[in-house]
Amino acid sequence: MTLRFSGFKLKNFCPIGPLFRIPGRGGRWPMKIAIFGGSIAGLAAAGRLEQQGHDVSLWEKNSTPSGGGFGILLPSSALGAFDALALGDAVRQAGHPIERCDLRAGEEGSFHQQALTDTHAISRSSLIGILRSSLEKTTFHGDATFVDFDFDGTGRARHGLLSDGRKVEADLFIGADGVRSTVRERVLPGLPLSEVRVVEMVGSIDGAKIPPFLTNTFSKTLFHHQGLAIGLLPVSDDCLVWFIQADPLRNPEIFSQGRALQNWVGSVARRCPSPVRELCLEIDPLGSRLCRSTDRELPSQFHRENVLLLGDAAHPLLPFTSQGTGSAIEDARDLSRLLERLPNNLEHNLQQLARQRLPILRERLRVGRRLQRQFLAPGGSERHGPVPLAS
Ligand SMILES: Cc1cc2nc3c(=O)[nH]c(=O)nc-3n(C[C@H](O)[C@H](O)[C@H](O)COP(=O)(O)OP(=O)(O)OC[C@H]3O[C@@H](n4cnc5c(N)ncnc54)[C@H](O)[C@@H]3O)c2cc1C
Repeated sequence: MTLRFSGFKLKNFCPIGPLFRIPGRGGRWPMKIAIFGGSIAGLAAAGRLEQQGHDVSLWEKNSTPSGGGFGILLPSSALGAFDALALGDAVRQAGHPIERCDLRAGEEGSFHQQALTDTHAISRSSLIGILRSSLEKTTFHGDATFVDFDFDGTGRARHGLLSDGRKVEADLFIGADGVRSTVRERVLPGLPLSEVRVVEMVGSIDGAKIPPFLTNTFSKTLFHHQGLAIGLLPVSDDCLVWFIQADPLRNPEIFSQGRALQNWVGSVARRCPSPVRELCLEIDPLGSRLCRSTDRELPSQFHRENVLLLGDAAHPLLPFTSQGTGSAIEDARDLSRLLERLPNNLEHNLQQLARQRLPILRERLRVGRRLQRQFLAPGGSERHGPVPLAS
């Protein structure tokens, strides 16, 4: 392997454990870090770790990062995590401030408004663009699919193996490859991923004129007895993201195609109260995406030896709380802080990361599950409480 050290490269350096490494400049020992998955968690971690002087490479399955949704609602906790990455201002500038959440009950016509502080909506592509342009030294490899590891006799990963036969060498490997993480399958199998009943259709209206009732507003209309909700979120001055969440047992039409799908979406729109109805009638579901939510118990650790999971790969969260992105950013922030404090003890730091993150994630998962139960309950739906998902 090659170790970069104060501008020199020591070829064939044999790693004998982080405790024995020679500290690099500033008392840190730079590591060679390979990240699989170049979306939110991967890009955020790369940005932080390269700033600390590590030699970071990113390996992404697609030519550009993918991941669910067209738009993202970022509550203040998520923006706080972006602030810690010195990206909060860029995110606020590119996004659309959201000052309130309007919850309408489709059948009863009732209306509840919740004020939101320091909350922004942003298109996924803008967010990815901000994270990507913050990278200075990291090499981004597109069309690079991780498939497996090559482990040494002690269980440490020596190489990450790509589908095209390439081998990636590193001291630390990070799996940021999303909910259906292959890295996770290789190092932390068990705790199965289950698909939950809620299905979500997401799309956007580009070039939309945002009507006054939606300015700085996230609107969600709930049909409590039908397991159905429709949401509208302005992510910029001329782009509106919409989503329909449905219990498919009561709304099997969500799986239909073409004209039948358009008719069903039109019928949902017509049931909405005005002024939501008029806007929803503009929705064309052709070109939208269908996403299935997933659930999984949290593991007790997010790492095994020198392989760490971050973001959805480590902890998929249910879609009702809009916390997935913020949680991925917080993972990256906390990892880099821990590495800074105790640069020479990787195992301790990775254990500490799980200790720090688990209580917060447990609570987010608990709230997400409660909102999901309410949404699916016959005659009941998620009403007030944490801001529900915006897609
Ligand atoms: C419809 C929808 C709406 C959402 N809305 C919100 C919201 O409003 N607010 C919010 O906070 N969160 C939201 N989320 C959740 C949020 O999108 C995720 O929590 C967040 O994207 C997690 O980031 P990640 O980097 O961990 O995973 P992902 O964004 O899923 O990225 C994983 C990356 O890994 C790559 N990859 C996968 N397998 C491999 C492999 N084998 N090798 C290499 N690369 C690989 C993928 O191509 C992808 O680029 C939403 C999710 C969905 C599906």
